Amino acid sequence: MTTHPNSGSDQVVRLGSVRKVYGGRRNEVVALHDVSLDFQRHTFTAVMGPSGSGKSTCLHCAAGLDRPTSGSVVLDGTELTGLSEKALTRLRRDRIGFVFQAFNLQPALSVMENVALPLRLAGRSPRRGMVMDALDRVGLAERGRHRPGELSGGQQQRVAIARALITDPAVIFADEPTGALDTATALDILALLRHSVRKAGQTVIMVTHDPVAAAHADRVVFLADGHLAGELREPTAEQVAERMTHLGAWAARRSAAAPERKR
Ligand code: ADP
Repeated sequence: MTTHPNSGSDQVVRLGSVRKVYGGRRNEVVALHDVSLDFQRHTFTAVMGPSGSGKSTCLHCAAGLDRPTSGSVVLDGTELTGLSEKALTRLRRDRIGFVFQAFNLQPALSVMENVALPLRLAGRSPRRGMVMDALDRVGLAERGRHRPGELSGGQQQRVAIARALITDPAVIFADEPTGALDTATALDILALLRHSVRKAGQTVIMVTHDPVAAAHADRVVFLADGHLAGELREPTAEQVAERMTHLGAWAARRSAAAPERKR
């Protein structure tokens, strides 16, 4: 396992008073209001909230895909906010794995080539055994020579997870990873993500709006209207769904109590 000089902390990602404002003075939208949030190493966290609550913005800021307007983001011991684009790109490539709803595989490359891609982009020549090992971990050792188009949606997402695992990243960010899958396949993928945390010591941060998906996490963090709105540990899907039904009311109460913070 590769370690970074500053990667000893138990908190692999730390957001400190992260504020994100889109638009200009006339059409300003505050997507995140000074959100402070830590994600512990070797845990599986789900970030939940209604549409427009700031989940994607939170994930993008945490993963260095977008820059906060103010505040601090520390990932695996590195403060991201001052980094150049080049340094951010390198950090994303070397220390973060991504899994997206739409799989984002390269259709012209074989499964093995897709999984090896992050290493190639980093200028490393991937050993076949390493790629096969990653494919084996997601149960697709037999499909290495296939093209993504020859696989089911669930299998394609497994390839994407193998691709995320291959660099042994400090953290895997998953953005609605089961959003394009049927229920049974979604459960397989969630079990695989959970397994990678429990058995392989990975850290996973997943954005979802699905209470069943969130219930696979160790911890669920709720956002409402760009604010943190509590969290649950080891929750059931019912507990998550119940909390979600109250989030709209929570945001409305907060806006009424502090109208200047409304946007
Ligand atoms: P979620 O992922 O929970 O649906 P988002 O993070 O996508 O929420 O959005 C939070 C808020 O920020 C919403 O009001 C959304 O319209 C706004 N927003 C997100 N991205 C942009 C953007 N690029 N430009 C302007 N507003 C944006």
